[in-house]
Amino acid sequence: MSEPRKPLIPLDDALATLLAQIEPLVGTETLATADARGRVLAADLVSPVDVPPEDNSAMDGYALRAADAGALLPVTQRIPAGSVPAPLPPGEAARIFTGAQVPQGADTVVMQEITELVDGRLRVTQPIQPGQHVRRRGEDVRTGSVVLPAGTRLDAVSLGLAATAGAAQLTVTRRPRVALFSTGDELVMPGEPLPPGAIYNSNRFTLRALVEGLGCEVVDLGIVPDQLDATRAALREAASRADVILTSGGVSVGEEDHLRPAVQAEGRLDLWAIAIKPGKPFAYGRVRDAHFVGLPGNPVSSLVTFLVLVRPALLKLQGATRLAPRGYRLAAGFDWPKPDKRREFLRVRLDEAGGLAMFSNQSSGVLTSAFWADGLLDNPAGQAIKIGDAVRFIPFAELLA
Ligand code: AMP
Ligand code: MG
Repeated sequence: MSEPRKPLIPLDDALATLLAQIEPLVGTETLATADARGRVLAADLVSPVDVPPEDNSAMDGYALRAADAGALLPVTQRIPAGSVPAPLPPGEAARIFTGAQVPQGADTVVMQEITELVDGRLRVTQPIQPGQHVRRRGEDVRTGSVVLPAGTRLDAVSLGLAATAGAAQLTVTRRPRVALFSTGDELVMPGEPLPPGAIYNSNRFTLRALVEGLGCEVVDLGIVPDQLDATRAALREAASRADVILTSGGVSVGEEDHLRPAVQAEGRLDLWAIAIKPGKPFAYGRVRDAHFVGLPGNPVSSLVTFLVLVRPALLKLQGATRLAPRGYRLAAGFDWPKPDKRREFLRVRLDEAGGLAMFSNQSSGVLTSAFWADGLLDNPAGQAIKIGDAVRFIPFAELLA
């Protein structure tokens, strides 16, 4: 029996409703800074030091007072990086190397290329700027300032910055545990023979990598047979072991399958028809204390719905502050005269002219389109595109990071 057609929900409304259900997880752990990549900082990181801690030289050259630069100056000190210099008297210069502390009294570093030594004394051969080539104490980070705010997702740059401020350990939020299973009796695992009517399970690999890439721990429950009892048992196990249950397949509206009744029997379920393409069917519910998210089965649909809905939810669970990916305005390199009534995420790549080219087959089953692409063109519902139009491009670099 088919159900009455529900109106399609705009993506932004669906996302807001989903995020409203998500409370950040309680619990933190303290990790060595080197082990914290991909995790979310639980509290502001405040620097106990100035960076750099003292004025230091940006060049190999000579430290001196700018006012003395016109005179012949005896070179009275040699200051390699890591040494502690003596104060520099007026009328003298010090040989200095990159990263070495500038001696008290000196205000300027002259690079060695514009100097010469005359009878052992220094002559500056070109005009200089007072203060040049000196990195000022605290110019990068000031003592007491917030180096990284709570909610920062730790990447190569932020980990380096934390280390710059001397942080050997970082307190991060707890990793969400995400239980993953695929539904569909047509699915077999790579490595198994492919009987007639079967396809390989690709979503398991895509979703697992996506979930792990977001700093979550995966509880992989594999393929669950298309039977009510087995599905209910899988949901109970998933709910006892994970904060989030993520499934693919079997959420199309009106479909005869066991996922929907199973979730309804073990908890509660909302089926949403979202106005996006690919990926219209989407399910959200709860099984005991766990969130349940059911993604559509088509590989590109499950990828796209994960990126636009589940990704921000998993980030919010971890207390991350930036949930939305950045998009960029770029010129379309193609015409799209017959847009869908739903908001559409087209698989596109940057072309040589700096515009966007579109993969020829935008079917939600063709995962090659996403491999070929550099990202998604986020096209508003019903909007035709003409060559040269400015469109919104979301690079995969934003979404898969
Ligand atoms: P469904 O959402 O269950 O109606 O599935 C839609 C399409 O996605 C069907 O062609 C399924 O065979 C395919 N599909 C479902 N699950 C997977 C999976 N884990 N890997 C690859 N394709 C899948
Ligand atoms: Mg199915």
